[in-house]
Amino acid sequence: MPHSEKIVICGAGIAGISAANYLAAHGFTDITIVEPGIPLTVTSDKSTEAYRNWWPGPDWQMTAFISRSLDLIEGIARETDNRINLNRRGYVFATADPGKIEFLQTMSQLAEQRGGGAVRLHDTAGSIYTPSPERGFDTPLTGADIVTDRDMIRKHFPYLANETIVLAHVRRAGWLSAQQLGAVLLERVRERGVKFVRGSVVDIETGARVKSVTVKSDGARHSLGADHVVLAAGPMQKKLATLAGIDLPITAERHHKVSFADTANAVPREAPMMIWLDEQKLPWSDDERAALADDPEARWLLDPFPAGVHGRPDGAHATIVLFNHHGEAVEPEFPLPEPPPHYAEIALRGMSTMVPALRGYQGKPSRPYIDGGYYVRTRENRPLIGPAGSEGLYVSCAFGGFGIMASCASGELIAQHIAGGALPDYAPAFLPSRYDDPEYRALLTRWGDGGQL
Ligand SMILES: Cc1cc2nc3c(=O)[nH]c(=O)nc-3n(C[C@H](O)[C@H](O)[C@H](O)COP(=O)(O)OP(=O)(O)OC[C@H]3O[C@@H](n4cnc5c(N)ncnc54)[C@H](O)[C@@H]3O)c2cc1C
Repeated sequence: MPHSEKIVICGAGIAGISAANYLAAHGFTDITIVEPGIPLTVTSDKSTEAYRNWWPGPDWQMTAFISRSLDLIEGIARETDNRINLNRRGYVFATADPGKIEFLQTMSQLAEQRGGGAVRLHDTAGSIYTPSPERGFDTPLTGADIVTDRDMIRKHFPYLANETIVLAHVRRAGWLSAQQLGAVLLERVRERGVKFVRGSVVDIETGARVKSVTVKSDGARHSLGADHVVLAAGPMQKKLATLAGIDLPITAERHHKVSFADTANAVPREAPMMIWLDEQKLPWSDDERAALADDPEARWLLDPFPAGVHGRPDGAHATIVLFNHHGEAVEPEFPLPEPPPHYAEIALRGMSTMVPALRGYQGKPSRPYIDGGYYVRTRENRPLIGPAGSEGLYVSCAFGGFGIMASCASGELIAQHIAGGALPDYAPAFLPSRYDDPEYRALLTRWGDGGQL
């Protein structure tokens, strides 16, 4: 059934384009996306392109939301003969700390209770562990395999550090081409007649209801009437929302990644996404350590670095590593400031604790390329999706490090809010109004890990 209301979406990142796609699929015929730059080039082309259905609690909502998104993404992969290059290699969380065996077992049991799939324990060599396929995504395995048998770890993951004492191989996880996913969605919205206006939204006129947005383009301003306005401005969302009198509880963190030519295949091409769970001191040689100790500017490189360095192979020759050792909230600025000092060297050394063959590149990473952007997030690392402020105004934001994997379900959820009718069970967990509930605010003070990578 066609709907003729005017919808304006502010921002052509993956959140805005996905919202347009699902609104058009719902029968909305008058959709305009306002975007000052080239679509999908602020944050949505900077990601690691990875996904997982494994999310911490305190409840099942994130798992259900991301699982729905993965159903939709898998649907796109099927419809396009896997143009989006979706794989299902999994995520391998590993540790050399015996104290974390119980932590991983508990995590996987909780993930199972939240709908993330069954746990399989492998503590003897006789136990049957099924490796993930290098390509394709149509494997029935979900949940996680917890492997404590050291021989089994060596056999299936010979490139991991000998000290690895336990790993969790999460199965509904892997990566895809975010660029191709964005391109498919963009083509679909163009085919469905969604209009694009080049410019920045600089004002939002509201009363009891939203009325219009003002767009600034080449120094000129014009007004676009709207029955519904969706704010999807990624790192500029907090600023944009203030135009409508809304103070969103979101912050931005800078995150980087380094990609380098892995000419020696230190990370085998068929490897999964790998995450090291231990805090660490970077592996320096004795000479390097002595030199750093003597240099007051660089001495901090001898300090402990946090847990969470992660990386994966990328295509035929590259390896990508992320090490967020500098996660404080900042005011987003563009062009992006310089990356933190020595980022490539720190990331590579950090990752070499997990994959020792990477030590071959120490001091000489081959053609490192650093990029990144902002993780926009709420305190508890859950997105804001739904109505906010005046009638007819909606937000879709705070996708932290999971906005690619969440993109399809977030777009669908915005469309469901605007169309009215039944909402999925997880919808209330992402409403901006959740913070009005004193019980939710109390829960926030006890909220554990937000699952950020
Ligand atoms: C280093 C890094 C690694 C990541 N890894 C992953 C990963 O492995 N998996 C995953 O799922 N996610 C990952 N992410 C997160 C993911 O990339 C983001 O969550 C997602 O791209 C956010 O999309 P968005 O549409 O909200 O924002 P953006 O892509 O930033 O788009 C926002 C758009 O709004 C426009 N805009 C801004 N202001 C206005 C205005 N006033 N008027 C009109 N338009 C405006 C901007 O020009 C921009 O095009 C990663 C992010 C980073 C930085």
